[in-house]
Amino acid sequence: MNDTPIKPAVGIDLGTTFSVIAHVNDVGRPETIPNAEGDLLTPSVILFDEDEVIVGREAAKAKATELEKIADCPKRQIGNQVYDKVFGDRRYPPEALQGWILNKLKRDAARVAGDFDEAVITVPAYFDEVRRKSTQDSGFIGGLNVLDIINEPTAAAVAYGYQAGWIDLTGKVAEPINVLVYDLGGGTFDVTVMEVGVNRFRTIATDGDMRLGGQDWDQRLIDHVAKNFKDNYGIDPTEDSTALGKLLRDCKDAKETLSSRSKASVECVFGSSSIKTDISREMFEDMTLDLLDRTDFTVRQTLKAAKLAWTDIDKVILVGGSTRMPAVREMLTSLSGQQPDTTLSPDEAVAHGAALRAAMLSNRHSNAFAPSEIKNVNSHTLGVVANEVETGIAKVVPLIPRNTPLPVVARRVFKTHRKNQESILVQIVEGENNTPEDCSQLGRCAIWDLPDTLDVGTLIEVRFAYEENGRLKIKVKVGGTTQKAFRYEIQRPNSLTTEQLESWREYICETDE
Ligand code: ADP
Ligand code: MG
Repeated sequence: MNDTPIKPAVGIDLGTTFSVIAHVNDVGRPETIPNAEGDLLTPSVILFDEDEVIVGREAAKAKATELEKIADCPKRQIGNQVYDKVFGDRRYPPEALQGWILNKLKRDAARVAGDFDEAVITVPAYFDEVRRKSTQDSGFIGGLNVLDIINEPTAAAVAYGYQAGWIDLTGKVAEPINVLVYDLGGGTFDVTVMEVGVNRFRTIATDGDMRLGGQDWDQRLIDHVAKNFKDNYGIDPTEDSTALGKLLRDCKDAKETLSSRSKASVECVFGSSSIKTDISREMFEDMTLDLLDRTDFTVRQTLKAAKLAWTDIDKVILVGGSTRMPAVREMLTSLSGQQPDTTLSPDEAVAHGAALRAAMLSNRHSNAFAPSEIKNVNSHTLGVVANEVETGIAKVVPLIPRNTPLPVVARRVFKTHRKNQESILVQIVEGENNTPEDCSQLGRCAIWDLPDTLDVGTLIEVRFAYEENGRLKIKVKVGGTTQKAFRYEIQRPNSLTTEQLESWREYICETDE
């Protein structure tokens, strides 16, 4: 008899402000695993204290007093080469910071669920290819074997589908429904329209705002309170890091209070002066109306891109802590003509969906629920840069327009310019603009070792394949040759090399043991 315990596969919502880890329990239900502090949500915050690296609640607490030692929201900087703050005399790549967070989640969860390394990690639907790769790399650094990267709204829809009985083994037949997932977290906003059928989840359109979230609502309160202080005492409390740290925390608390009460107040202390500012929910909603309007605009755009009307939407699903603000619910109710669904936990739904996906992929719990088909779209247009023949100006040639169902393959044929040309360089970008500088640079694909007998004008076909998870694969075919594969490499200016990844993994996973 083989009595090796089966290792669990987990789902991780690697959030901008909070991260959550979940697994599918013995009776086949998704369940959040508490961290070592006993909390279901782990703040995505890292404290560098001398030689110690502390992740989560204690790090978040230190924000009020030791802001300079804190790496906050590394997810906002994923895709950049390094995080914008220096700790000691070190700069860290955002992947390493995310790796620390993932490693804490992993170690803490292993205490409850047993040892494991397989995980599904979620990303915002509008994350581009570079950020998806960086997230996958973060998983590696954190000591995980990343089974899949799935979109947060898709994960939320899977959790919803599970709860509503759409993931089914009994052969149930039902007409698919359309759902709109509105996800407003701490630092990001995401909206996705999906079709949910029996064991089928298909994304129709997706859009988002990488720089919009609960923090922006906090900031409005901070500005308001700081102005009140300045009007009274002539000095700006936000210039002092201790006063600012306290304001950050107190304004966030006041904002959350205003979701359940009609009034809140914030005490601002700086030097020997202090002032109490009262805020009503109405005032707060007025001072943040433009932020809510931005989400309203994106929701309309996404529905338009999906070619659907509100009458086609059967459910509006709320995800993300900031959807607790009553103004969000009111806006969505009046926009959609229906009450948003509030049966899912806005904090845990994404991790639960990811855990279900992990269980499906690792083929566990096959007696509890059916594996489901998940179909995504790409959230950014993929293109290559080419020089216009007449002007010589570099322009983006779109290859795969946004919201194309995945997987998808696009071909582009290049011609050699010189006899015996040995290599070709293709610059790959993502974005909705036709000037290369306004797009996000995915990297350059260098194809070399072409046969040395090629005539001028030989056709080289490059195939760009977007996989289900939004990652890019490339294949190259050279006209007139029988050779199938050519050596190529995507050079990613902002990515870590394999050696760097391994050395970070060793550093983070071992020092924390
Ligand atoms: P993320 O996905 O970005 O990690 P979450 O979904 O965990 O974020 O949401 C965190 C945000 O939700 C924070 O800005 C927090 O202040 C906000 N939030 C949590 N509870 C409430 C509440 N009761 N009212 C308003 N905002 C809330
Ligand atoms: Mg989130």
